[in-house]
Amino acid sequence: MHNSYRGRFAPSPSGDLHFGSLVAALGSYLDARHHNGTWLVRIEDIDPPREVAGASSAILNTLEQFGLCWDEPVVYQSQRHDFYQSELDKLIAQGVCYGCDCTRKMIMNGGGLYLGNCLNKDPDSLKTPHSLRFLNQHGIAKFEDRLLGTTTVNNDFANEDFILKRKDGLFAYQLVVVLDDIEQQITDIVRGSDLLEVTTRQMTLYQHLAVPFARYLHLPLAVTENGLKLSKQNHAKALNLDDRKELLIQALAFLGQHNSSQYQDFTIEQLLEYASKHWSIKDIPKQAQLIA
Ligand SMILES: [Zn+2]
Repeated sequence: MHNSYRGRFAPSPSGDLHFGSLVAALGSYLDARHHNGTWLVRIEDIDPPREVAGASSAILNTLEQFGLCWDEPVVYQSQRHDFYQSELDKLIAQGVCYGCDCTRKMIMNGGGLYLGNCLNKDPDSLKTPHSLRFLNQHGIAKFEDRLLGTTTVNNDFANEDFILKRKDGLFAYQLVVVLDDIEQQITDIVRGSDLLEVTTRQMTLYQHLAVPFARYLHLPLAVTENGLKLSKQNHAKALNLDDRKELLIQALAFLGQHNSSQYQDFTIEQLLEYASKHWSIKDIPKQAQLIA
């Protein structure tokens, strides 16, 4: 048992929770409860153009309705700009950031990865606005996932000088997620496999900041029959609060968890308690994607 276990669910308020987000929230919650850990919720509202008004409170309300209750006040990334900027300023002072004015088109033409085009540019010659990249000298290409085992990404991806602050002035997801996970002392990150590859970038930042890595467990991603991630964009249904218990049972089945015949007599709280106690990682399908 890890008594210092701290986990989190970190949704972005781009719409209502759907079955895929329920699976991620539930997996993270059960893993935390199974380890007698602390479970937090963080709203990743760092990208205003992608946000839907009212989505944050709707998400929190839905989690509560499903009995997925968090242990500490919810953190909102939108309220932490000063913290992110002061941490970014430290990286700038260390000389591990540089400006880049490449367009998306230039990067796509180069095969989708940034290849160091602006590395030696005179900062005064950059067009404004421009993005800020991390000078990635020790890229990580491999990590141990608690479910999937040794996971590797290609070296070019691992070594890309990725973006820390975007041209539009918004902080990059990679930067803020790592700063928050470190500050909140998160030990275990349980989330969907759509974030498998970028885990290596996040670990690169941990390494640079000389902070021990979190442990990672990437759950199978709920996809449509066409292999698309369930999302608002492909019209994933919002969770129907009238079917909470049935949806939790479906989510547990999706995660390969033992299905108790007692479930029909259980309240939602009893069901979650039972599922936490019996949480079994070895039974989770070892797949990046699974049709919901
Ligand atoms: Zn550039």
